Amino acid sequence: MIELQHIFKWYNVGGTKTFVLKDINLRIEQGEFISIMGPSGSGKSTLLHILGNLDTPDEGSYLFLEEDVYALKSRKRAELFQSRVGFVFQSYHLIDELTVYENIETPLIYKNISSSERRAIVGDMLDRFGIVGKKDLFPNQLSGGQQQIVGIARALAGSPNLILADEPTGNLNSQQGEDVMKLFKQLNEEGVTIVQVTHSEKNAEYGNRIINLLDGQLKKD
Ligand code: ATP
Ligand code: MG
Repeated sequence: MIELQHIFKWYNVGGTKTFVLKDINLRIEQGEFISIMGPSGSGKSTLLHILGNLDTPDEGSYLFLEEDVYALKSRKRAELFQSRVGFVFQSYHLIDELTVYENIETPLIYKNISSSERRAIVGDMLDRFGIVGKKDLFPNQLSGGQQQIVGIARALAGSPNLILADEPTGNLNSQQGEDVMKLFKQLNEEGVTIVQVTHSEKNAEYGNRIINLLDGQLKKD
């Protein structure tokens, strides 16, 4: 499903080339559940952003669903990812001015899905996550755990084949964190590929493979 080849990413800091990712080679098959671990600053978020086309490397190639990503024009590239990838962030990234319902609906509007279909999909998401009663509330009226659930519902509303999650349980208590991990496990069993960044060994073990990053390189185990 995914193949990164010789990916390099660097920044020029005070005239010096500072590497964030150094020669990353990674294959991910459809249906995998991968946990990326590594110390702070090792490049985990950068790698996840490259996987989701939120960032581009300075060198290397990326095959996503057999498409040569960097050979595509930026619009085609955006379309390829928009309909297939759902992002879950540590700090939720919900839109404060929109209700729970509207937050979940947002990616569907971008995908030009008709309003009746949107109603059906958002309704399903609210049901599935047990938040029907919260649909007219705004993010600041929800607990952190509830906000993260809304973030996940929004990521799933577009039925992605791939979920990219950057420390999805970072702001949750342990019970909420476990609920999110169980949900990921269930989605993965339904066929969704999941790549999560986590600092927690326990969360990492929900996946089928752990990838360790150290100073921008994949550690061989
Ligand atoms: P954490 O666990 O703290 O979230 P991380 O592994 O996700 O860390 P990244 O956010 O990927 O790390 O950052 C990797 C490195 O890239 C860091 O050393 C960071 O300082 C550097 N970096 C990121 N953005 C820039 C930038 N715009 N300019 C210079 N360096 C940057
Ligand atoms: Mg990070």
